Amino acid sequence: MTPVETDRQLPSVSDMLEQQQRGWACVWCRTWFPVGLSTDLGQQRVVPATGAAYLWFPRECLDTAACATRAAQ
Ligand SMILES: [Zn+2]
Repeated sequence: MTPVETDRQLPSVSDMLEQQQRGWACVWCRTWFPVGLSTDLGQQRVVPATGAAYLWFPRECLDTAACATRAAQ
């Protein structure tokens, strides 16, 4: 299993809100996206120590500078 490459190391999925795992909100700043206005970071496959493997779908804001500002707050 090879994870999809991204520019940044994604936060641990266990720390994600459900909305972030589903690609409805930014993985960095938790902003909810207007439809279509986000960057797909690629499908991620997680294999937990216990339980079944699953997929999640990280997305980030199109405006990465504003995103970084929000995430730092
Ligand atoms: Zn963001």
